Amino acid sequence: MLINGERTTAIDERVFAVTDPATGEAIASLPLGDLEDVRRAVDGAEATQPGWARTSPRDRARVLTAAAQLIRERVPALARQLTMEQGKILREATDEIRGTANVLEYYAGLGSTFRDEFHRIGRDLDAQVLRQPIGVCAAIIPWNMPALLLAWKAGPALLCGNAVVVKPASTAPLTPLSLAEILHEAGLPDGLLNVVTGPGEVVGEALVAEPRVRKVSFTGSTATGRRVMALAGADIKRVTLELGGSDPMIVCEDADLSAAVAGAVAGRYYNSGQVCTAVKRLFVHETVADEFTRRLTAEVGRLTIGNGLAPETRMGPLNSAGGRDRIRDLVDETREDEAGTIVTGGSEPGGAGHFYEPTVVTDVAEDSRLLKEEVFGPVLPVVRVRDLDEAIARANHSPYGLGASVWTKSHAYMREAAVRLEAGIVWQNLHLKIPPEVPFGGIKQSGLGRENGLQAIDAWSEQKTVLLRP
Ligand code: NAD
Repeated sequence: MLINGERTTAIDERVFAVTDPATGEAIASLPLGDLEDVRRAVDGAEATQPGWARTSPRDRARVLTAAAQLIRERVPALARQLTMEQGKILREATDEIRGTANVLEYYAGLGSTFRDEFHRIGRDLDAQVLRQPIGVCAAIIPWNMPALLLAWKAGPALLCGNAVVVKPASTAPLTPLSLAEILHEAGLPDGLLNVVTGPGEVVGEALVAEPRVRKVSFTGSTATGRRVMALAGADIKRVTLELGGSDPMIVCEDADLSAAVAGAVAGRYYNSGQVCTAVKRLFVHETVADEFTRRLTAEVGRLTIGNGLAPETRMGPLNSAGGRDRIRDLVDETREDEAGTIVTGGSEPGGAGHFYEPTVVTDVAEDSRLLKEEVFGPVLPVVRVRDLDEAIARANHSPYGLGASVWTKSHAYMREAAVRLEAGIVWQNLHLKIPPEVPFGGIKQSGLGRENGLQAIDAWSEQKTVLLRP
């Protein structure tokens, strides 16, 4: 863990192992934090934050710019570390590290646009609206995109003058630790960004329940998000929740099929299917469904699985044995219940790593778990639909509402779908892309609040109204 700018052991000196999901071998040993470690981290953050809040946004932005520069200089080493702890292929890890630098640069750019408001309300009444830091905040992040999600939270939080205590996932904590060290090297005062490693139920909950933590920004599963929201509710803490998704992809009869097949393959199998906004349900117009499925199956069959460090690998292992087992059980259940036809993949290659074959399922039963639950792995259910109306109705038939994509050349179709789809983000002829310039977040059980864009500045600051009668 990293407290007050220094790597430290847990107070009781207990440790846990971080393993490489491609080999099952231990690659690091980290402190197993508990309540006392959370308290130490919050002490440090609380002591440093007021001084940071007094600096100008431009000075704070300078640290983010310097950190982004250091990250860019170290892309190969950071990407390799990310692949080794998380499992994603090196090209995807490299994209994520570069994306992390982009996000910090985006927020650094916003530093020069910060301003408070002034209103002349009446002849003898003026008003100011001051934007102020919230104070000590918690950032709880999952293992699937640990670098990018750290930047989504720490970038705007620090720019707005807050201190942050980060709780990384236990299966991908090394990259967040390295990034926090880089931010300190770039000039961040010690104590402003602490990282406490350890179990979510202990460290995560202690952080959410700690009275001095005023905001919790959580990214993870809907089940944990529910727990976080309940705990944070005791003190009416500010919460941002970025939770699970079951994104639909709709392929219309006029779609460019080659682009749609490529989009489905990237959208589902990127990061071995472990992305909140991955394509998790595919609805294809019946007139193009056979051709589309034939091409999709052929393309998925060509995805070479293996260690993400090997240049020929197109899909790495899943991040954990538990995650792989859940996928295997779901596909086995689908096969046994005859709730779908597995047209490619559907088995475990074996060996020490947590691998599962990229899988496509057709003829999916309407009540299949593949359509009802968030499937966090490389399995794609393909469903035939009569028209756009049916596709939208079925897409909306989900407790989730994160992303959705529509593959069509028709402006009328797109207009209709963009309004009616229940999602926080809707793409036309692409999926997955989330630029930092625009707000991102879910509706329904996919979350609460928005990250990215100018909205992130509102989410990481308090607004105070001052009425003046000079
Ligand atoms: P998770 O909910 O198990 O864990 C997320 C984080 O919360 C980890 O750091 C974990 O240690 C911590 N945690 C666990 N229990 C906790 C508790 N009781 N109190 C506080 N913290 C606790 O999720 P995961 O398996 O790491 O990540 C996968 C999930 O994250 C998927 O559902 C995915 O869709 C979602 N996700 C969402 C987004 C988004 O932006 N909406 C982005 C990435 C991932």
